[in-house]
Amino acid sequence: MKRIYMGTNLKMYKNNQETVSYLKELKEKVAAFRCPELELFVIPSFTALAEAVKAAEGAIKIGAQNMYWEDAGEYTGEISPKMLKAIGVDLIEIGHSERRHKFGETNFDANRKVLAALRYGFTPLLCIGETAVDKEYRVTTECLREQLKIGLYGVTGEQARHVWIAYEPVWAIGVAGKPATPEYADRSHQVIKETLAELFPDCGQEIPVLYGGSVNSQNATGLMEQPAIDGLFIGRAAWEADSFAAIIKQV
Ligand code: PEP
Repeated sequence: MKRIYMGTNLKMYKNNQETVSYLKELKEKVAAFRCPELELFVIPSFTALAEAVKAAEGAIKIGAQNMYWEDAGEYTGEISPKMLKAIGVDLIEIGHSERRHKFGETNFDANRKVLAALRYGFTPLLCIGETAVDKEYRVTTECLREQLKIGLYGVTGEQARHVWIAYEPVWAIGVAGKPATPEYADRSHQVIKETLAELFPDCGQEIPVLYGGSVNSQNATGLMEQPAIDGLFIGRAAWEADSFAAIIKQV
C-alpha cells in the first residue's frame, strides 16, 4: 500500500488551547473519511507539544519545529531530544527555510540534528530547497544534492529508513511565495530521489519526499499526481482544520 504523507507546520501561530481545538477538529474530520494509507502529522509550537500529543491520541503524529542535538547542558533557550522524547513527540522538523534563513542554521547544524533525532528514535523531517538566486543561476540540483549529502552525512542505511524529506523551494514558501508548478516540483523530487538512492542503495528510493510551498486546494491534486511526490507539507492552507481536511479528502 503506497502511503500518502500530509502534514502542516503551525509555525508561531497557535497557542496551547488553539492547537488542542485544532487537533480535535482535524482528527474528527479525517476519521470520517477513513484513509488507511494516510500518514497525517502536525507540528505545533513547543509550548503546545505535551497537550498536543494527548489530544492527537495517536491518530495524528506530532512533531517539534526544531531541536538541539545535545542531551543536556549550558544551552539556554534550547530544547533537547531527551525532553522531546519524554513528551512523546514522533517527529522533528529540521532545517526549515525560516531556521536556515532567519536564524542562520547551516547544513552542518541540520546534520547534527538529524543524527540526534535518529539516535532517539524520532523521524527526522529534513527540509531542503533552493533559493530564488539558486534557481536563477540554475544551481538547484547542486544545492539540493549538497543539502542532502551534508544533512544526511553519517546516517546509516538502516537509519535512513526512518528519514523523511520535505522539498520546499524557498521562493515558493509563504505569503510572498508562488507555488512551484507540478512539473517543476516533480523534477526536483526526481533529483532528490536519485541522490537518496545513491546515498542509500538499499532504501533510498523508499524515503518519502513531500512537497511544500504555497500548496492550496487548487494545486494539491495536480502536485500529488506527480510520480515522485509522496505527500504535501502545507502551511497557510492547513491552519484551519476544515480546509486541511478538505485538501486531504481531495488528494
Ligand atoms: C512552509 O512555511 O513551510 C510552507 C510550506 O508554507 P506555505 O504553505 O504557507 O507556503
